Amino acid sequence: MNLTVKEIQEWLAAFGRTIEKNKDYLSDLDTPIGDGDHGNNMNRGMSEYTIAFEAKQPTTISDTFKVLSMALISKVGGASGPLYGSAFMNLTKATKDITEITSQKQLGELLETGLAGIQARGKATPGDKTMVDVWDTVVQELKNSDLTKAGIEAAKENTKEMVAKKGRASYLGERSLGHIDPGAASSALLFQSLLSYL
Ligand code: ADP
Ligand code: MG
Repeated sequence: MNLTVKEIQEWLAAFGRTIEKNKDYLSDLDTPIGDGDHGNNMNRGMSEYTIAFEAKQPTTISDTFKVLSMALISKVGGASGPLYGSAFMNLTKATKDITEITSQKQLGELLETGLAGIQARGKATPGDKTMVDVWDTVVQELKNSDLTKAGIEAAKENTKEMVAKKGRASYLGERSLGHIDPGAASSALLFQSLLSYL
């Protein structure tokens, strides 16, 4: 595999399109265990990314992640904005001197810094029924050079069996059981959009 700035930008553009398509699905997941806005939040953030991308025309991997991070932090009203934003801010730093990503292992190590950003801000650990559950699985599978669609799906589906310990869904306690976490679902879309480039 070889991810240059071109492939990274294609990946994030594809993520923006899939967020737009799945906006209602993500907000519907957020309705029983949250406030029903996750799809709208993410779509607002990714629309802003598209606008900022056109305006700033970033030419490096690092600058591309920076544009995305700023868009998500500034435009997503919910908790997910600063969480995704800190992931992509850490990726901005981690890719400062990188022009290409040539292995799943290297990509896994980079995304691990993004995951660390989410955890530093949100204090969630795997099993807390958040986006961390998908990011953690993806990082482990990439480091083992074995990221698959099935692995991503399983990580998302597994959040159904979890009681939420962080975020709005945690107010429901046991009643959060039986529902997929919306942030885990949007993260699954992020990494599914990546699969064709590996
Ligand atoms: P809000 O909860 O403010 O309405 P969103 O609906 O956009 O924000 O996002 C909710 C998602 O954010 C959850 O499904 C979960 O994945 C993620 N989330 C919330 N709090 C945390 C946290 N402390 N750590 C990691 N992820 C979190
Ligand atoms: Mg919400």
